[in-house]
Amino acid sequence: MNLKEKFLKLKKEKKCLVLGHNYQSPEIQEVSDYLGDSFELSIRAKETDSDLIMFCGVDFMAETAAILNPNKKVLMPDLKAECPMAKMLNPEIIKSYRRKYPEAAVAVYINTTAVTKAEADVVYTSSNGGKICSALSTQKILVGPDRNLALFIQKQLPDKEIIPMPADGYCYVHKIFSLFDIKSRGFTEAEILVHPEVDMELQALADFVGSTNQMFNRPKKSRATQFLVGTEIGLIHRMRKEYPDKEVYPLNKYAVCNTMKLHTLTKAYKALKEERPIVRVPEKIAVKAKRAIDRMLEIMNEK
Ligand code: SF4
Repeated sequence: MNLKEKFLKLKKEKKCLVLGHNYQSPEIQEVSDYLGDSFELSIRAKETDSDLIMFCGVDFMAETAAILNPNKKVLMPDLKAECPMAKMLNPEIIKSYRRKYPEAAVAVYINTTAVTKAEADVVYTSSNGGKICSALSTQKILVGPDRNLALFIQKQLPDKEIIPMPADGYCYVHKIFSLFDIKSRGFTEAEILVHPEVDMELQALADFVGSTNQMFNRPKKSRATQFLVGTEIGLIHRMRKEYPDKEVYPLNKYAVCNTMKLHTLTKAYKALKEERPIVRVPEKIAVKAKRAIDRMLEIMNEK
């Protein structure tokens, strides 16, 4: 029995739900029950009957799954899989911005750690930021940590003042894309899909700007047969599998999130066998962070 077969057998025996983020390596994608973005996977975790969940993503994702599922055991194959962008916003920064803008609401990206979410009024994702911020009653909204995503939300909401918090938060993986990537690839017929964490000048040139799940679904709705995808290269594997009749290329093949790739099948098998490392969020923090997540869910369920 090879490692993949051994993992799948143990997963079945333990009734473990394996969630893989779109940016995971093919070997993890192949053994995942569900693939998706961070929020979609957290919802899957909430819906499962299984008491054991393995989250193959980065720290804040597994934390969100643990917050939404306090009675389930959430494993992550390598606890060092942390998101550097999430660390650019912390409770101290939020408190200092609140002091400066006492009239503003605080909306934080789902890509933040639990302690940061605990200081926010509401959470948003890369697919629903416009809707969430538009539902808030204040005119000024502090939004972070990703500056490009804040500017993308501002474009959708001209009547609101969106203030990036901090002023210069970014994802190093999405910062890698440049105009040169678009011009040099020479695919004149290809549709260009980019994530809202890329720079605004690229968003302006792209045919479609959306979250990883929105990009994943785009070929279903488009007549184009070629796609250049401007996000972490893990999504390419999933899209090529889903659309064998279409051509899907990375906009830049070096767009790799190193911490996402820390999870390997070897580590996942060990974690499943030993049922550790476990992702834990202190109850006090979890309760406060859940309030901000629940506020997002309420807005999403409003008509
Ligand atoms: S791709 Fe960017 S935002 Fe996503 S986990 Fe990696 S560093 Fe964080």
